[in-house]
Amino acid sequence: MNLTNINETKEISMIEAVVDTSSIKKVAAAEAPAARWSVAEIVELFELPFSDLIYRAQIVHRENFDPNQVQVSTLLSIKTGGCSEDCGYCPQSARYQTEVENQDLMQLEEVLAAARAAKESGASRFCMGAAWRSPKQRDLEPVLRMVQEVKAMGLETCATLGMLKEGQAEQLKEAGLDYYNHNLDTAPEFYGDVISTRTYQDRLDTLERVREADINVCCGGIIGMGESRVQRAGLIAQLANMSRPPESVPINLLTQVEGTPLHGTEALDPFEFVRTIAVARITMPASHVRLSAGRQSMHEGIQALCFIAGANSIFYGEKLLTTGNPEAEADQQLFARLGIKPEGH
Ligand code: SF4
Repeated sequence: MNLTNINETKEISMIEAVVDTSSIKKVAAAEAPAARWSVAEIVELFELPFSDLIYRAQIVHRENFDPNQVQVSTLLSIKTGGCSEDCGYCPQSARYQTEVENQDLMQLEEVLAAARAAKESGASRFCMGAAWRSPKQRDLEPVLRMVQEVKAMGLETCATLGMLKEGQAEQLKEAGLDYYNHNLDTAPEFYGDVISTRTYQDRLDTLERVREADINVCCGGIIGMGESRVQRAGLIAQLANMSRPPESVPINLLTQVEGTPLHGTEALDPFEFVRTIAVARITMPASHVRLSAGRQSMHEGIQALCFIAGANSIFYGEKLLTTGNPEAEADQQLFARLGIKPEGH
């Protein structure tokens, strides 16, 4: 065993010690328990020759999904910037000088116009994101209305509003929310390097509230923030070992934004990103693995490799333009060239 391996082994044992099992309890008692993956086993997957890893991921993918279908979601930022949190990757934090312009909560009609345009562009799910640490009740109420109206249009609804307090997930469920997005971002032992204003346990608590309210969970992380491969495996272990893994697993590539602390982080090898997708597919066979932020800057060839590795969900752009969406058009062309069909069409 060389020095790297010794260090990696030590790192794995430290991570095994902190893999949080509190997320492995009670939720969805009717569901069969997920297969438990150790961080070491996940690292072994990462270390397979590229072609072997992709082959395994394709087998799992084809056993569980139509390999030529991709689910398409659209994300609209309904409240932008001015967030009190200090997530080191995020230009919406009020602590960093970035070019993001703050915008108060959007009016219902504007949101509905964007949802209509999303539907016309082929999206089946409409995700509403607000830059809050945690919504106050007076913030939540207009969002409940948005969820009701978007749902009435025949779109699946998703929201990402920060940490939820007792009772808030139930209100969202009652309004018709199908999915709640709340990412774990990274492995627990790297979390403090990226965010200091909340804990990993805070995230797990919100995820548990969402599960208990019977809302589908959308939960993933960000790759390329300077974490090690073992830490990438640590994130995947957290997700895969939930008693019911998230229905939707967004795997984001860090988008480096000037003014944020993570700007200037060494760029990740794109093949390592594809490997992460493949590992997510193998360890969470029934989940939709979403190729998320960072995709627009990725070469089409790498995007195609991600689909082959088992990614089967994408976002059409970060902010939908109500008058045409060039990003959506480019995606439609890529789908046509690859023979991929959007789910539900
Ligand atoms: S909580 Fe969300 S909006 Fe706020 S800084 Fe973190 S990632 Fe950005």
